[in-house]
Amino acid sequence: MDRQVLLDALERIVGVGGVKHRPVDLLVYEYDGSVDGAVDTAAPTAVVLPRTTEQVAAIVCLARDAGIPVVARGAGTGLSGGAIAQQGGIIVSLTRMTQVLEVDPIDRTALVEPGVINLELSEGVRDRRMFFAPDPSSQKACTIGGNVAENSGGPHCLKYGVTTNHVLGLEVVLADGSVVWTESARDGYGGLDLTAAMVGSEGMFGIVTKARLKMTPIPAATSVMLAAFGSLDDASSAVTGVIAAGHLPASLEMMDNLTIQAVEPAYHAGYPLDAAGILLIEMDGHPDEVSASSAEVELLCRQAGATSFRLAETATERELLWKGRKMALAAMGRLAPNYYLHDTVVPRSRLNDTLAAVGDISRTHDLPIANVFHAGDGNLHPLVLFDRRKSGDVERVLAASHDLIHTCIEMGGALSGEHGIGTEKRDYMTLVFTESDLRAMAGLKNAFDPHQRMNPEKVLPKGYMCGEVRALHMEAMRQQHGIVPV
Ligand SMILES: Cc1cc2nc3c(=O)[nH]c(=O)nc-3n(C[C@H](O)[C@H](O)[C@H](O)COP(=O)(O)OP(=O)(O)OC[C@H]3O[C@@H](n4cnc5c(N)ncnc54)[C@H](O)[C@@H]3O)c2cc1C
Repeated sequence: MDRQVLLDALERIVGVGGVKHRPVDLLVYEYDGSVDGAVDTAAPTAVVLPRTTEQVAAIVCLARDAGIPVVARGAGTGLSGGAIAQQGGIIVSLTRMTQVLEVDPIDRTALVEPGVINLELSEGVRDRRMFFAPDPSSQKACTIGGNVAENSGGPHCLKYGVTTNHVLGLEVVLADGSVVWTESARDGYGGLDLTAAMVGSEGMFGIVTKARLKMTPIPAATSVMLAAFGSLDDASSAVTGVIAAGHLPASLEMMDNLTIQAVEPAYHAGYPLDAAGILLIEMDGHPDEVSASSAEVELLCRQAGATSFRLAETATERELLWKGRKMALAAMGRLAPNYYLHDTVVPRSRLNDTLAAVGDISRTHDLPIANVFHAGDGNLHPLVLFDRRKSGDVERVLAASHDLIHTCIEMGGALSGEHGIGTEKRDYMTLVFTESDLRAMAGLKNAFDPHQRMNPEKVLPKGYMCGEVRALHMEAMRQQHGIVPV
């Protein structure tokens, strides 16, 4: 299809102000939050900003007829290259679909459009004493559609679970332009659990246009504690000690000294500058239970060697302690102009070894690495600090990243805790998945998107790309059964 014909057709669907196509307007859509160099950047043919499901469906039908890719995009805060249109085509930006359509305080659910910002949803239902539990550190900007597609996590996911535990049903525009409602089999609707398949599918199965979400009651009481340690080993031992003793904190976060050096001068959160590492621990629930478990947590931290321990006395103090954690990435600019934020998971019992190995990698590649992460669930976030203006820095960062990923896998870990695979980790998939695993994933992609138009080139490594698998499958069908699939 001729480019101008395509643009005219898109404008007929969404109106003139809803299509961006000038190179200057497309520039920002070449990126997401990832490091340029770790993922490929590329310009789409056009960016379209629909306001309704019908418009999204019409755009997908147009792309189907033109035979070009479609990439859904929320706020573009993703950290694995997921919202970049590596093969060009149409980016469907959902940022104009921002309505909270229903809030049901009795069933504790909300029906929302995909462009609703994560934090704004929680703030919008706070007066009904509810919140949306998944709380990525990017929650001031990221959208529910992005959270669903990446199965996002956050500090409070240790106790409450990641996004998939909070999605009841989705409205999705599929690759052929049809619109389906999924409802969770786990909530008693029966049938195949399409919601579970959709969450975490990184925009490869369809475009989410509505989500029915579980809201969580705001707990009656909350305590926030800060424990400081003279070594990361001691801090890690406290983490395993607290969990092994049977506690389930709402969140259990660790920050190392480098992170404290960035955060404290910026936000004055009250983090001790001389600590090798700190834990931020939140307990919530019934007031009696919170006060008893907080006392036990203090004891466990002191037994693990805490050099100081503080329980926030007021809501302001609690908020300040959290502000330091939530703004930690923003504060990194004080240490270096650029950072590469990693996302891997290791068994909690290997935290000590892994943090030591991260220190070795930092020294080997002569790059500072800060650690700020969800320690309770072993979800590491090493931040490799660098200056991309310096020649050779990007190459060293990529080499260090390669070592980090391999080390975490060797520790028995996973490729990603919450940021997804996208193109960033696509070529590492063979480290953790067998050929059969990858073929099964490719088969699922094929079932939703046989022509490989929805967010192509993501997640599945080359050689397992769905088209290739489909071609192999067709050849096998032809040879074994004499069947020629269309
Ligand atoms: C500073 C910072 C901190 C972060 N902290 C966390 C954290 O604590 N936890 C965490 O999990 N992540 C974190 N992230 C990563 C990121 O914010 C999350 O992955 C987030 O969910 C992405 O949302 P988004 O709206 O920006 O999605 P985008 O980046 O726009 O898109 C991400 C993926 O979702 C797909 N997608 C978007 N909308 C839809 C839709 N409606 N239908 C289908 N597919 C769609 C895209 O195609 C893409 O594959 C952080 C990022 C930054 C920059």
